[in-house]
Order: sequence, then structure tokens, then C-alpha cells
Amino acid sequence: MITYNPKSLKAEEFINDGEIRETLAYAEANKNNLPLIEEILEKARPQKTETGYVCAGLTHREASVLLACDIPEVTEKIYSIAEEIKLAFYGNRIVIFAPLYLSNYCVNGCVYCPYHLKNKHIPRKKLTQEEIRAEVIALQDMGHKRLALEAGEDPVNNPIEYILESIKTIYSIHHKNGDIRRVNVNIAATTVENYAKLKEAGIGTYILFQETYHKESYLQLHPTGPKHDYAYHTEAMDRAMDGGIDDVGLGVLFGLELYKYEFAGLLMHAEHLEAVHGVGPHTISVPRLKRADDINPDEFDNGIDDETFAKITACIRLAVPYTGIIISTRESEAVREKLLNLGVSQISGGSRTSVGGYAGYSNEERPHDTEQFDVSDQRTLDEIVRWLMKNGHIPSFCTACYREGRTGDRFMSLCKTGQILNCCHPNALMTLTEYLEDYASDETKKIGEKMVEEELERIPREKTRNIAKENIKDIRNSNRRDFRF
Ligand code: SAM
Repeated sequence: MITYNPKSLKAEEFINDGEIRETLAYAEANKNNLPLIEEILEKARPQKTETGYVCAGLTHREASVLLACDIPEVTEKIYSIAEEIKLAFYGNRIVIFAPLYLSNYCVNGCVYCPYHLKNKHIPRKKLTQEEIRAEVIALQDMGHKRLALEAGEDPVNNPIEYILESIKTIYSIHHKNGDIRRVNVNIAATTVENYAKLKEAGIGTYILFQETYHKESYLQLHPTGPKHDYAYHTEAMDRAMDGGIDDVGLGVLFGLELYKYEFAGLLMHAEHLEAVHGVGPHTISVPRLKRADDINPDEFDNGIDDETFAKITACIRLAVPYTGIIISTRESEAVREKLLNLGVSQISGGSRTSVGGYAGYSNEERPHDTEQFDVSDQRTLDEIVRWLMKNGHIPSFCTACYREGRTGDRFMSLCKTGQILNCCHPNALMTLTEYLEDYASDETKKIGEKMVEEELERIPREKTRNIAKENIKDIRNSNRRDFRF
């Protein structure tokens, strides 16, 4: 039998099947144990300190008990604590990004993904550097500052040199007042040397979804190609951190396996990163399986309903309080609206999931031929920004942290010392003002300017507040951009 050891560097020891099964049994046995549940909820609540808030987080076992509990009053409490934590550490800001698909060439056989090698009716496309320029200009013209690069795994068509060259191209483009200031990267598991190269290229977060933590299912869902290697994939974040990347993003593709199993595995992965590298995941994504070319989600048995999905997200917020939680346009407006109050801190907007989906297409037109999955939330970025503000969230285009060297545990300590109101809050307002000045519709601008004026008054430190006000004046009256704390 393989023993559970969160500090081990071996996949099957830190994501241990036996430990997950025991956790699920423990959760099932205690799902109505109200004294224990109250204790767990109490542990999860943010505690006020002299400088800000701290949160203990929850172990995978504790969080699994909450997830298993079906008592409606408990779910309500989970939801309200999730919101409390989000507000304590991230305030009412929501960070915005867009995906950029570079290439759908792929040598893997992932059975849920339309890019799988055997799919012969999907056209294959890889952007040239010129095409990347056009895509980036289109994204800048929408108002984006932060991208997530996506590419299939193909050592011949998409080698690391191609990804690195593309990152260089993206950072080099400054169209009108626009620029892309943070490039996150979602590419297949690779070597320590390649991760070091990505770090050197100035990436933000390295994102890699585990898809499923259930090894047997993993092997069946990834029958061919390099991704078939469960250990290599599961140990990727350790190699990324060894390569110097200290912001990594986890995620599972919900719908592939039983969600309670995935949830426990995901939290064990977060605990492992904390135990070995001293810093947990920078982000956790919660993608759900979607319809796509050659893919019918109904053929997978483990789809989850919206209510369960909401509960999973809220429980992640309680368990990993300092992580950014990401929800993409795979989800509808209604689902996103609900989740924004349960701990989500980052969303994508105006997204196209096809290769070359931005340049040359109007808001109404979207190419489907090379698309990775159906986009549910098809609103424009302007509509998303306006909707966020109407719901009391500040859309943030801030990218300051990693550019100021606040990555890994330095970012976490910013959260813990409550300095976000003096730092992230003004940064959000300044970048929102850039958006309002350069890209917003009149209606959005009007709502936004009012929000900025009100929110500026919430900056606690007088000196910071005054500098932020001056900078915002400057943004409005000149072409000076990119102020940050
Ligand atoms: N190719 C890279 C890899 O192997 O990790 C990652 C890039 S892939 C474009 C991004 C993610 O899309 C995958 O990790 C997977 O979770 C997700 N995905 C694939 N097929 C999907 C589908 N049908 N519905 C929703 N998400 C899907």
C-alpha cells in the first residue's frame, strides 16, 4: 500500500488514493455531525487582527465534511463565510482576463477535448507572430491587460521556443494606450528547464489543470500521448516551482470524475505545495466540461448541477482562503453572478476559445471551427465590466503584484497584513479608470466614474489616497498610464 505523505514529491504519495477514500468515508460518516461542522465553520471564519485578517483555512478532511453535508442551513453558512473571506482578502475587486489560443495542434488523446489527435474534422491552426500581433491588438482594443495563453501539446508544432517567442511578441505590442502587462500560461506539463525559460520570459501564473486526480480514470481519459503519464502531469507544479515559478494555478475539469474525490484531491495538491514549497496555489480554476466538436458532455457520467458547483466553489474558498478563484466563460451569466458572491476573484470576459478568434470578427460573429469549447457567457467586455459594477464589484485590470516582485508568499503576506486596501484597491481603481477612459461605452463610463469616486474614499492611508486621486486625474487628463502601488 502507498502511504500518504503531503511532503513527498511522488504523485501517488501526495495525492494518495487511500487517503482520499478515507476522507470521503470520514466526510460521509460526519456529514450530520453538527458539533463537528460548527467547529469546522468556526475555524474557517476570518479572524480580525491589528492589521487585517487572518484565516486558518481547512484541511481536505474538514472541507470534505462541509461538502458532504446536505443541511440547507449549513450550506447558507458556508456561503456567507465564503463571501466574508473573499471580501476580507480581495475586497470587492474582480480581476479580469482573456484567453488567447495560440495553436490547437495537439498530440494527446484526451477524450473530452476536441483538440485530441484523432479528431480529423477540426481544422488545425497555429498563429504566426503576425497573427498574434493582430490578436493582441484586438484584445488591447477591447481593454484587456492580462491574458492566459492556451496551446495544445505538440513538441513539433508548438515547441517551447514558439511559446517563448509568442510571449515576447505579446509583451512588445503597445497599441494606442494599450499593452498586455501580464501573460499567464496554460500549456502542457514540461521540464524544469522549460519552466525556468517561461519564468525568464516574464510569465505571471503557470496554470495546469489536473483534469482528474483519480489515477485510473486519468489513464483512461488520456489514453495516448505524453499527457498519459499521470505522475509527470501531477508532479508538474513541483517542477514549475523548481524552475523558479512561484505562482502556479491548479484546477480540475469537473464532470470527468466524482466531484467529492476531485475536491479532496485538489485540496491535497494545495496542501502539498504549501508543505513542500511554503506557498499554496496562486489560483484555483473551476472549469466544468462543455460541449465541443466531437465532444458530448452527456457521455460523461459525472456532470454536476449548478447548486453543487456553487457549493464546491464556496468550500474551496473556505479551505484555501488566500487563493484566487477563477471562473471562465464556460459558465453562464447567471452562474457567474451567483459565484461572484461565493469567493470567486477572477473572471474572463469577451473570450474567444478558437485559434485566431479575436482579430477581424465583430461582437456578434464568432468562429466555431477551431473552438475548444462552447462559450456560455458571450457578452462583450464592456457589458461584463458594466454588469460587475452594477452588482457592486470593482472590475480590476491590475497586474502590479508580479511586476513589483510580489509573487508567491510575498503576495500572500500582502493579503494577510490587510495592505490590500492600500495597494490592490487603488491599483484596481487606477486600471479601471484607464479602461473607462480608453475603451468603455458612455453608459459604462458614467457608472464607472461614480464608482471610482466612491471607492477612492475607502483607501485608508491618506497619503496613498491622495496619490491615487492625483494619478486618476492624470489618467483622465493625459495619455499617462500604468500607475501602480
Ligand atoms: N493543452 C494543455 C494541457 O494539456 O494542459 C492545456 C491547454 S487546454 C487548451 C486548457 C484546458 O481546457 C484543459 O486543461 C481542459 O481542462 C480544458 N478543456 C478541454 N476540453 C474541454 C471541454 N470540452 N470543456 C471544457 N473544458 C475543456
